[in-house]
Amino acid sequence: MDDGITTAAYIVASILFILSLGGLSHQESARRGNLFGIAGMLIAVVATIWHQRVDNLAWVIVAMLLGGAVGVWKARRVAMTQMPELVALLHSFVGLAAVLVGGSTYLGSEGAYLGVEKVIHETEIYLGILIGAVTFTGSVTAFGKLQGSVSSRPLLLPGRHWLNLAGALACVWFGAEFLQADGVPEGLLPLAIMTLIAFLFGVHMVVAIGGADMPVVVSMLNSYSGWAAAATGFMLSNDLLIVTGALVGSSGAILSYIMCRAMNRRFVSVIMGGFGTSGSISGSTDVAGDVTAVTTEECGELLNQISSLVIVPGYGMAVAHAQHPVYEMTRKLRDRGVNVRFAIHPVAGRMPGHMNVLLAEARVPYDIVLEMDDIQDDLTDTDMVMVIGANDIVNPSALENPDGPIGGMPVIKAWNAREVIVLKRSMASGYAGVENPLFFKENTRMLFGDAKTSVDELIVHIA
Ligand code: NDP
Repeated sequence: MDDGITTAAYIVASILFILSLGGLSHQESARRGNLFGIAGMLIAVVATIWHQRVDNLAWVIVAMLLGGAVGVWKARRVAMTQMPELVALLHSFVGLAAVLVGGSTYLGSEGAYLGVEKVIHETEIYLGILIGAVTFTGSVTAFGKLQGSVSSRPLLLPGRHWLNLAGALACVWFGAEFLQADGVPEGLLPLAIMTLIAFLFGVHMVVAIGGADMPVVVSMLNSYSGWAAAATGFMLSNDLLIVTGALVGSSGAILSYIMCRAMNRRFVSVIMGGFGTSGSISGSTDVAGDVTAVTTEECGELLNQISSLVIVPGYGMAVAHAQHPVYEMTRKLRDRGVNVRFAIHPVAGRMPGHMNVLLAEARVPYDIVLEMDDIQDDLTDTDMVMVIGANDIVNPSALENPDGPIGGMPVIKAWNAREVIVLKRSMASGYAGVENPLFFKENTRMLFGDAKTSVDELIVHIA
């Protein structure tokens, strides 16, 4: 394939990626957005491997078949609740790829550049490996936090900001050494030391971030993976990779900013790794009082008396796969004339848009699924709020205890409704590990059990 055709294919692929991002910003057009993305990637891959510069096609095809087979196998098996971990893991691959491509480009291009060109080329390599290494270990640590193998609580090392500063200064110093090195053997040492520091920084940055700030980390690592890909594009002089990486990097950064605003956090504070987090990491609220439990039969009777219901879905609804019975219950109540709506918190679940995806899968009409801010004021006039597998996002201590781990995070004020029913299995805390005073409020009833089983039983009791 000659250069002209490759360039044309890259332009078409870039346009498809932009259309894909546009499509993904609305639920109605998300499916179409995905198709644009798939078509763009197909064109990009074919144009790249047929380019005359690729001289070992057999290896490329073997690697693609292997990677593709693992990808298909994993995508078919992954549960919706494991998607955030999978996404974190995929981000780590982009970071690792940037490190490996950077290393091999450095080893393979000795003597190919001179003067200013050499400085520019080696700066690209250095920055690409730096961003890639932070993305790699940061994403692996985020994977551990989301999966539960690493604690969701922030690990705040003493003098952590000094450690970060020392690491950043060391990277600058080794960068200067690297650029001044005379050839590969001499340059390898500063490059390897910087890579090690960047690996450690990635871990340190993410372990310092508390459970409630993890949504920002997930979208931020998405952004980093884009910049790592763009850096790889510079190293390989591949324009499409630069454009695609910049699209992912900037859209991830915008999403991180939106998540920060939704959670009332400062972006810089979050990315600095718990910067501004108070010394107390427990931030525990003294929660005391009696809990009122109800049976599904009693809850069914209450449902038969209401005329308005707001459902607040959370991570537990995803765990229980309760979205289909929840829609069935919604349909039955709407047939009885009850005004049923859903309140979606921006960080409900474990990834941005998690609840919207589940509700769309169950075919819940979009017009009754409302963002938190659009429904908050209506809660005082609502007969019942039903919290299904949510915890942190309805926790009043976010407002009452500003120094706690979720302090300052806007929450859905479920307690303002006349009655609150909480569906969960036990009194366990949510992802951020904070006790929830909502469960002890006078107008709250707890319906203990798996959310799917409980909703299935409730459906039977609705007249
Ligand atoms: P939480 O994790 O706070 O609470 C979920 C609740 O669901 C738990 O208390 C659990 O209680 C209950 N639960 C679990 N399984 C079931 C089941 N089978 N049936 C019924 N209930 C169940 O979820 P929220 O959605 O309220 O909050 C999201 C949290 O995740 C926030 O802290 C957010 O910061 C964080 N996060 C969000 C990300 C995002 O992008 N959205 C990314 C990373 C983290 P029990 O065990 O008693 O049943």
